[in-house]
Amino acid sequence: MPNLNVNKTPMAVRDPLERGRDFGEVAQGYTAQQAMEEAARCLQCKHKPCTGGCPVQVDIPAFIRLVAEGDFAGAYEVIARASSLPAVCGRVCPQENQCEKHCVRGVKGEPVAIGRLERFVADWHNSQPIHPAQPVPSNGHRAAVIGSGPAGLACAGELLKKGCDVTLFEALHTPGGVLVYGIPEFRLPKKIVEQEIALLKSRGLKVMTNMVIGKVLSIDDLLDEQGFDAVFVGTGAGLPRFMNIPGENLGGVYSANEFLTRVNLMKAYLPNSVTPIRCGKRVVVVGGGNVAMDAARCALRLGAQEVSVVYRRSAEELPARAEEVEHAMEEGIRFCFLTNPVEILGDENRLVTGIRCVEMELGEPDTSGRRRPVEKTDSDFILRADTVIMAIGTSPNPLIKSTTEGLETQRWGGIVADEWGATSRQGVFAGGDAVTGAATVILAMGAGKKAAAAMDEYMRSKT
Ligand code: FAD
Ligand code: SF4
Ligand code: SF4
Repeated sequence: MPNLNVNKTPMAVRDPLERGRDFGEVAQGYTAQQAMEEAARCLQCKHKPCTGGCPVQVDIPAFIRLVAEGDFAGAYEVIARASSLPAVCGRVCPQENQCEKHCVRGVKGEPVAIGRLERFVADWHNSQPIHPAQPVPSNGHRAAVIGSGPAGLACAGELLKKGCDVTLFEALHTPGGVLVYGIPEFRLPKKIVEQEIALLKSRGLKVMTNMVIGKVLSIDDLLDEQGFDAVFVGTGAGLPRFMNIPGENLGGVYSANEFLTRVNLMKAYLPNSVTPIRCGKRVVVVGGGNVAMDAARCALRLGAQEVSVVYRRSAEELPARAEEVEHAMEEGIRFCFLTNPVEILGDENRLVTGIRCVEMELGEPDTSGRRRPVEKTDSDFILRADTVIMAIGTSPNPLIKSTTEGLETQRWGGIVADEWGATSRQGVFAGGDAVTGAATVILAMGAGKKAAAAMDEYMRSKT
């Protein structure tokens, strides 16, 4: 029987007051019964508009039909053909702008909860006993993957499937990229990423951490001396931007990347952590994306009494995932819309005491199609703060470019690559945020996957 309910089957989430005090996961996922009930809402559209909205083209009606029939193993197989990190994507994909945006059930109600169903299937799969992967015969090629975020992991996974010998080089001491150092535990439990990396290792992946390519080894070393046939650069966009306003160098001002890395990767909130963090009673986060939401919600969990998000446009333009904004609001994060900081204020010890802001109004649309925020005259006011976190964007680190001759980059630092990831330097491929600038997990994965196909073809053409 089709389920004609216009709303999604609700998913349990922890109480905002309770969850705002710890790092346990907020959304609890579907039970098998809830998943089957939600799957029955799918109309099995022949033309699959939802799949068209998924950057890696998951066959959505096919996997949902299997969920409705209770064949969760079959559903996993369908998803895994297109996506190598379904437990991650089911949790963090901005579904409302991708697959679910195109779901026909969304016309007269809520779309089918594709992300929640994907998460359910992946979690079910991960709870089953692990079957050792069938060894793939070696194809004699060696590839180096630089960076262990979703782009690097997807690229490595695909190359392993083709029988390639793959070594992953990661600058940090733990692999996973933003999935481990940026996105907090309460949105994406780290054991999911660990499981994924363990699976790749069981299939032969070699992981070398604390390897900053550009410092320890160069791309030229990898190709000319270390004997790799091709290199994939998936180094992300981890270089924080600042506003260049007075006071940004005061004590208590963090980039969101530094703040989140201290919290997520270095576990600064644990009493025995050796990594210090200064999170005061009043915290102001500047920005409106996922990074800003994560920083604000982490600050709350570190014990801040008042956390405000300052965003220069209105609520409608917030780029963060709708669910994260909703959860942040439920937890008591305050939003100051149409507000722009102009100065960070400090005391005689050069520690933050507040942030001077001006009110904004929306003017004509700019090149992004969004209405440009314009400053209102004589509208400045002060928000008191002990900690200010800047979450206004990041760009690719220029280090990689300096490690090889002939690697073309954009003025803003992104590596120039074609749609298959080929760069201007022979044998070097690139994808993910290092090419596009800060984007999404699924786009980075898609790019890593495509580049693996092109690298395989390139390496075969050389032999
Ligand atoms: P990254 O994940 O950045 O990985 C790059 C890796 O390369 C890092 O581990 C880095 O240490 C390593 N590296 C860098 N330089 C070197 C070097 N020289 N040598 C060796 N290694 C190097 N996207 C979503 O879809 N949904 C979300 O909810 C979401 N939330 C986010 C929250 C935060 C806080 C952040 C920061 C991003 C979020 N994103 C989200 C964006 C998403 O995480 C990124 O688009 C994605 O991780 C990019 O993947 P990547 O593999 O290109 O790069
Ligand atoms: Fe939707 Fe992301 Fe899954 Fe694609 S990978 S179907 S966009 S949740
Ligand atoms: Fe099912 Fe919606 Fe996709 Fe149609 S568009 S197949 S209803 S998920």
